[in-house]
Amino acid sequence: MCEYSLIGYMCGRKKEHKKTGYCIFHCDKEEFEPDEIEELKNRFWEEFEEQENNKEDKFDFIGFKFPDKISFKKIEFKKPVYFRGATFSGDTSFDSATFTKEAYFSGATFSNEAYFGGATFTKEAYFKRATFSNEAIFVDATFSGDTSFVDATFTKEADFRNVTFTKEAYFKRATFSNEAYFGGATFLNSVKFIGDENKHLSNLEMDYNKHLKKESVSNELKKIFDEKGFHLSDNVVSGNYFTPQNFTPWN
Ligand SMILES: [Zn+2]
Repeated sequence: MCEYSLIGYMCGRKKEHKKTGYCIFHCDKEEFEPDEIEELKNRFWEEFEEQENNKEDKFDFIGFKFPDKISFKKIEFKKPVYFRGATFSGDTSFDSATFTKEAYFSGATFSNEAYFGGATFTKEAYFKRATFSNEAIFVDATFSGDTSFVDATFTKEADFRNVTFTKEAYFKRATFSNEAYFGGATFLNSVKFIGDENKHLSNLEMDYNKHLKKESVSNELKKIFDEKGFHLSDNVVSGNYFTPQNFTPWN
């Protein structure tokens, strides 16, 4: 049996790699031959189809390792989907994907571009402790359930332009090392970026418990940032205000 485990989770799939003791999806081989990549992809989509049609009430891709680019463009995930702890090493696209149930990306790692443009998250979306080592693009995405980017790390640009957050959006202790764009984003409930008391971004908490119009959110953000001594260019929350020094560590 595959020896991969994560808190409260054991893989249990057939062991295929003697050296690592893992199944094909948890194999942590560094180098893959093109035909191995091809095989892995085919196997993954077989697995996807199997899970889509089986009796389980979820997609279990926990800790899966995707060594190459992968696209879930326009795919509808009809069950809760667990990508908890998954590793996406190539460009990853969830372009216009629909998550009909909960989406769990907690602890996932995206080493290359992570594209969630136009994606629809119908229920809760969890990106806690997710690591985006390259661009993270969520442009035009819709989050209809509570959304968490708590402790997420954005090394390059984080683009949340025109995103709609219908419920709570948590960005507590998120680290933005580069530009973070929230222009045109709509927060219909509350958005929380809690800052560090000891730094000049003191306890910055943007808590909108009211409905904000799409056009007004940038100005609202601007106002709040202005009050805290921050300056935003139009429709842009500039990365300088979200440096790790400003945002971490917190208690
Ligand atoms: Zn496994």
